[in-house]
Amino acid sequence: MKKVSLLAPGPTPVPPRTMLAMAQPLIHHRSSDFLEMFGRVRAGLKKLFKTDNEVLTFCSSGTGAMDSSVSNLLSPGDKAICVRGGKFGERWTELLEAYGCTPVNLDVEWGYAVKPEQVEALLKDDPSIKAVYVQALETSTGVAHPIQELAQVTKDSDAVLVVDAVSALGAYDIPTDEWGLDVVISGSQKAMMLPPGLAFASIGPKALKLMESSTLPKFYFSWAKELKTQGINKGAFTSPVPLFIGLLDIFDLIEEIGLDNIFKETAVKSQAFKAAVAAWGLELFSKENASTGLTAVLAPEGIDAQDVVGWLKEKYAIFIAGGQAQAKGKIFRVAHMGFISEFDTLKAISAIEMALAGLGYKFEMGAGVAAAQKIFGEA
Ligand SMILES: *Cc1c(COP(=O)(O)O)cnc(C)c1O
Repeated sequence: MKKVSLLAPGPTPVPPRTMLAMAQPLIHHRSSDFLEMFGRVRAGLKKLFKTDNEVLTFCSSGTGAMDSSVSNLLSPGDKAICVRGGKFGERWTELLEAYGCTPVNLDVEWGYAVKPEQVEALLKDDPSIKAVYVQALETSTGVAHPIQELAQVTKDSDAVLVVDAVSALGAYDIPTDEWGLDVVISGSQKAMMLPPGLAFASIGPKALKLMESSTLPKFYFSWAKELKTQGINKGAFTSPVPLFIGLLDIFDLIEEIGLDNIFKETAVKSQAFKAAVAAWGLELFSKENASTGLTAVLAPEGIDAQDVVGWLKEKYAIFIAGGQAQAKGKIFRVAHMGFISEFDTLKAISAIEMALAGLGYKFEMGAGVAAAQKIFGEA
């Protein structure tokens, strides 16, 4: 019998206690019990995002919140910088084009991080640029963009900084207010350890101001409407009650473990996995700013990375991810964020070794496991 293991960068495993919490009988989304719950969700989100800004909750996958950060901030024809260092960066351009805005594409070679000076130069060159859209962690390449430094650049301009932290928030520290991030977006199914279905957006004062001038069409994802209702602990529409209950349980779990400890544990899993990659004689796809949330590995010469992914899925029911678009067949990606233990990481390493050996790659079997065990043993 095969036990399914989710070790891809989303969706990640959900703690069994959280699944059980969500199995409670449904309550009505307009009941006083639920309003009280909504209040606790808002407070918990502010704590997690490290912000005093309102953090809106949407019933959608993460892309819904990305979509809302375009439709609620911009007007037709508006220019905005899209940092494109991977598949998710490209999504900004697609969104802007869908809404009839004008993307100013800042292409970054996949595997590298954006240089804040490049953004600064573009903003200086064209003061009409309304926003900068970027990923905290570009999940398709494993690269963490320098968000704190980017915020220093946008702070001195009229542009609003929108950070997609769907895979980063909860994996490592993204202190919204301390760094001065105008909009931070996240979703439930990555480091937040929940099933897919919730998206979040924290909205700061500079973004609220731009929102007032936005004339793009919006309805379901209207920030103004949700700010009004969520401000009094109600969703404008029917809330996904079980996911809210799950989210409150996750907040309890984070409180018990400590957010800093979660960041530390994630970093150790990442360090152990990266040590295994080195022991195999393989290279990371991320040439700089390799994030702790996940690792993207270049497959050996002559081996299709999709075959590694397929081997794990078919033989062991272990789900890791392959590459997307231009990286397809070249890389495989393994998550360290969320409810993944060091033994899950060792399982992934062990399974990848078996796949690599089965696919004909020559290396010392067990070298990656040993390298990772050493890191875990010393942590
Ligand atoms: C997962 C992810 C998203 C959201 O994708 P959905 O499928 O809509 O949840 C957005 N940005 C990044 C960087 C992601 O990793």
